[in-house]
Amino acid sequence: MLKKRIIFLILICLIMFFISCNKKESDNKTIKNTPQISNTVQKVKTGKKTDNITFDKVIYLTFDDGPSKVTSKILDILKGKNIKATFFIVGKEIPGNEDILKRIYSEGHSIGLHSYSHNYKKIYSKNEIFIEEMIKTQKNIKDVIGISPNIIRFPGGSKNNLDAQLLNKLHDLNFKIYDWNLSGEDGTNPSASPSTIYKNATKFKNPPKKIILLLHSGKVNKNTIGALPNIIKYYKDKGYTFKVIDKTTPEYIFKIKKK
Ligand SMILES: [Zn+2]
Repeated sequence: MLKKRIIFLILICLIMFFISCNKKESDNKTIKNTPQISNTVQKVKTGKKTDNITFDKVIYLTFDDGPSKVTSKILDILKGKNIKATFFIVGKEIPGNEDILKRIYSEGHSIGLHSYSHNYKKIYSKNEIFIEEMIKTQKNIKDVIGISPNIIRFPGGSKNNLDAQLLNKLHDLNFKIYDWNLSGEDGTNPSASPSTIYKNATKFKNPPKKIILLLHSGKVNKNTIGALPNIIKYYKDKGYTFKVIDKTTPEYIFKIKKK
């Protein structure tokens, strides 16, 4: 009888031992798994954070009306700050300024078309004339630097100047259009002081995540040179990335005129 009781007790002890071993093992699995899951979550969170900083806020600095001596000074500033921008070129300004056009290209900036004459009355008299001037400027640029840009900016913007028919023709010719959502207003008022141009170029209380900033580098835009370093500093401090407009940039067009 006593023997049976001892065997029974030993059996109970063995069962208890196995149960406790199994529990420990499963506890270990839980402990091992927990940090793995939390690591993954952390990685995803960190990834999103990085995205916010590097990709979310983008500014495209764009300079119309060059090349000119002012363009050279603008290039000096951009070079000093290692920032790339986009230059919309006026064809009639190229002769005598070929070296400046070459410099824009060799220093890694993007180049677009801004008509040949910049004469509103002429270019907006007929869609055909507008297209002819863009193609002429495209050829003139190719003669100097060997590339044919296909990004365009309407002098004065596309508003009231672009209809569905012209849009289709431009797209058929592989042109892409870029207006802007912020302006230094140095085109309409080139004699505005550098501080006024800076204020205009930084006027948003809550700046949008994507900014296409219109500035000018024509021969009359000397004050834009003085405004530029502070404009760059303002957007750098706000965490913006400076990008160039190229063929991968989605078009940005003001409302299309209805006929
Ligand atoms: Zn212009």
